[in-house]
Parts: sequence; C-alpha cells; structure tokens
Amino acid sequence: MFIKIKDLELRKMEFDETLLPGTMDLGEVKLKVPLRATGRAELVRESRGPRNIVEDIRLVGNLSTRVETRCARCLEPVDNTVAEDFDLIYRPQGVDTKGEEASISKAETEIGYYQGEGLLLEDALKEQILLALPAKQVCRPECKGLCPHCGRNLNQETCSCATTAPEPRWAALEDIRKKLER
Ligand SMILES: [Zn+2]
Ligand SMILES: [Zn+2]
Repeated sequence: MFIKIKDLELRKMEFDETLLPGTMDLGEVKLKVPLRATGRAELVRESRGPRNIVEDIRLVGNLSTRVETRCARCLEPVDNTVAEDFDLIYRPQGVDTKGEEASISKAETEIGYYQGEGLLLEDALKEQILLALPAKQVCRPECKGLCPHCGRNLNQETCSCATTAPEPRWAALEDIRKKLER
C-alpha cells in the first residue's frame, strides 16, 4: 500500500493490511504466517521558519507475525514471534542537511525519510521486523554450534575432531612438554 502525501493532506488514512508469506523480500528472514498490520498514517506539518513547512508522514500502529531466522551457531531454523507497536516519523528525503542526518541521536532513531510522492507501507513494516530481531540469534543459549573441523551439528551428535586434531597452540605445548620430559 502506497501512502501518498497528497492524500494525507486531505485526511488521515487508516490501514489494516495482511501480507502473505512470499510477498515480501526480507532477505534471510522468512515470514511463516501472514503479517498483520493495523494503524493509521497522518500528515505532520513541521514548522521550520515562517515560510518553511516540512510535511512529514507519521505512522502509528502495530504489526504481528512469525518469522524464521537461522541460529548463528548451528544454522538451524529459529522461530520468532514479532509483535511490535510503532510510532514513526518520515521526513521528505533531503530536507535535513547531510550533517543533520548523520548526527541523528539515539532518541531520534525513529525518524526515517521518504522519497518523492510518499511512502510504501510495506517498506516501513519490513524495516520494523528487521529491527525487532536480534542481530545474532541462537536457537538456545547452550547451543553447541557446528564443529569447526567437520561441520557436524554438535547438538545432535559428537565427533572425534577434538581429540584427533587438537588446536595448534595446544599441540605446540604438547611438543614442549615432550621435549622437557626427555
Ligand atoms: Zn543453534
Ligand atoms: Zn568434528
């Protein structure tokens, strides 16, 4: 759904969208169930001087869905429930000088930019889903991951790599010990 600034100048817009798995490109992340998003879009006029009014798009609402990511250690699928409330401001691209855009403080991270006529709701939702997920996810805190030598999933099986191929620095110590024993 495209949110047009011209439409918002007339009235605010309510939305109730359902996006099916496969209709959104989230990269490595997969939608497992339809994404539901409800809320409203409205125009916010930011006054920056007597004749300088900036027209922002404010998006308020919530989204819920379930997505699949991969464990950073063992690469097995991990299920995530995503349920987010959002209150976002999008300014016209280019309205802030480069310096200002770069100096956005933590408190202002909810500010984004739209290009041209308006904003694609799906793009805003996509961003919210990705922000809601932890950067490095593990299937469980005690996940043992994959063996760096043979690639076996150590949660499911054990391997003998640890004894047959010790880490190089231990091997070096072992050599020294043997020499000292002589
Ligand atoms: Zn894992
Ligand atoms: Zn191994």
